[in-house]
Amino acid sequence: MELVFDGHNDVLLRLWRNMKAGGDPIAEFANGTTSGHIDAPRAKAGGLAGGLCAIYIPSGDLVLKEPDEKGHYETPLAAPLDYAFSLNIALEKASIALRLDDANAWRLCRSTADISKAMEEGIFAAVLHMEGCEALDPELANLDVFYAAGLRSLGPVWSRHNIFGHGVPFAYPMTTDTGPGLTDLGFDLVRACNRLGILIDLAHITEKGFWDVAKTSDQPLIASHSNAHVLTPVARNLTDKQMDAIKESGGLVGLNYAVTMLRPDARDDAATPLSDMIRHINYMVERMGIDHVALGSDFDGATIPQEIQDAAGNQNLVAALKTEGYADEDLAKLCRGNWLRVLGQAWHE
Ligand SMILES: [Zn+2]
Repeated sequence: MELVFDGHNDVLLRLWRNMKAGGDPIAEFANGTTSGHIDAPRAKAGGLAGGLCAIYIPSGDLVLKEPDEKGHYETPLAAPLDYAFSLNIALEKASIALRLDDANAWRLCRSTADISKAMEEGIFAAVLHMEGCEALDPELANLDVFYAAGLRSLGPVWSRHNIFGHGVPFAYPMTTDTGPGLTDLGFDLVRACNRLGILIDLAHITEKGFWDVAKTSDQPLIASHSNAHVLTPVARNLTDKQMDAIKESGGLVGLNYAVTMLRPDARDDAATPLSDMIRHINYMVERMGIDHVALGSDFDGATIPQEIQDAAGNQNLVAALKTEGYADEDLAKLCRGNWLRVLGQAWHE
């Protein structure tokens, strides 16, 4: 089995929602469940050894638009969120992450040595990520508290605007260049992440925001869960030029399993073949090289191909990659090595 360290999941969102409905998030993760995609037993079964676990503040008003007769759709951006509302939810999700660590249901990792040790011990290696920074204040006065709680990665924006920058909508077909980039506060945030050693994630940001980070940050450029725009032209995917900059910086792109970002028609349909995943991987490997492509499933955050189904089916993708001709050393890079390399660089190890 090829162990996978994965660049993006929303398991904390699922656990938090179930907690709000009266459930026990620790027991649900540790003992397993049939809902969603990730828990400890299913992760173990599928060789999902760890990943970046997002603190994401839900946009209650967001409903994805149905495609028109041409298959085109454009969902308006979700409304900006209130700071106090967002901070409260972020603290509750960070608390779940800490409690999971305390209960030995997963290991909250703060270094690549932590990740490697957890993987050796067979316990899920979680890294805390913030997907959209609505829970951070303009002066970044609370950022060190999140850092102390284990935050080691953040995306300045999700697919909505905030005080740090602008996100791209869920739309097909659409250019990646949908609006302004970072705000002045967004540049401050990038510099703070460089100083502290927090990875900056470019998934969900506008193309202008991407280039703003590229000219400011001293880290490798990464998009934790994005695919190739030329194959699936949604605003969330990456152009060839963006991929060239990622390669140049020593960064990576994590393959997003979301069917809306894999399929040529971008439809939200789980009957999406593994070949759509392979096509994106092949393209990105050809464009950037094997050192710059990884996995970023979006488990618990999106509709994924039914041939994967959940974390337990993760090795179906690995098997398809083997059939495609990827050698063992390539698979080791794709599945975990590349992530560990860029995390170590961003974290000043
Ligand atoms: Zn996302």
